[in-house]
Amino acid sequence: MPRETKKQRFERMHAEYEVLREIIPEPECALDFETPFQLLVATVLSAQTTDVRVNSVTPTLFKDYGTPDKLAAANPERIEDIIHPVGFYRAKADHIITLSGQIMRDFDGVVPKTMEELTTLAGVGRKTANVVLGNAFGIPGFPVDTHVIRLTGRLRWRSDWRSTHPDPVKIEKEITDYFEPDEWTNLSHRLILFGRSTCHARRPECADCPLNDTCPSAGMFG
Ligand code: SF4
Repeated sequence: MPRETKKQRFERMHAEYEVLREIIPEPECALDFETPFQLLVATVLSAQTTDVRVNSVTPTLFKDYGTPDKLAAANPERIEDIIHPVGFYRAKADHIITLSGQIMRDFDGVVPKTMEELTTLAGVGRKTANVVLGNAFGIPGFPVDTHVIRLTGRLRWRSDWRSTHPDPVKIEKEITDYFEPDEWTNLSHRLILFGRSTCHARRPECADCPLNDTCPSAGMFG
């Protein structure tokens, strides 16, 4: 592929995103939740596991511990038992109990609505904060997870696509510069869903991919 100018990359990126908008018209958060607090907890639990697995434990967890006051006062061993299937259950139980206490102590029992405040909570990084901002509060956020990193690299939407250790914060900054803020949350959802359905980590389905006319990585995976 001849070297693209920045303008050409921008135009290709938006043409490819239009295709994703058509094939994924109404992307939704795959985690089940009823309140911002529940989404926050579910997102912390989702590290290194699937949303399906998280959704299998949260009904039990939220039945008795669905608010920060209740979870802050919970017996850690009971929480570990409930969330055991999601893996890293000791660290995750510690994080969700601790962050509940922080919300009670530092934020009057209410999940804060800024990146700066959310990232003071135990186990909450920019990705989790962006999930909560975008999906619970309707505040533009662009969560960068493993699918977003992979897709933006294969599609060469980001300038450091060759990097073997790309920086999620740099990706967030670069990609959000190219899109309107009210599109950020759905952009992330669509990349994640497309990564799960078609552009898999090991065997992307390039032959049947609707982006294979323009994707610079099409057919490079054997
Ligand atoms: S053509 Fe292949 S590498 Fe490119 S987006 Fe589609 S599945 Fe992924």
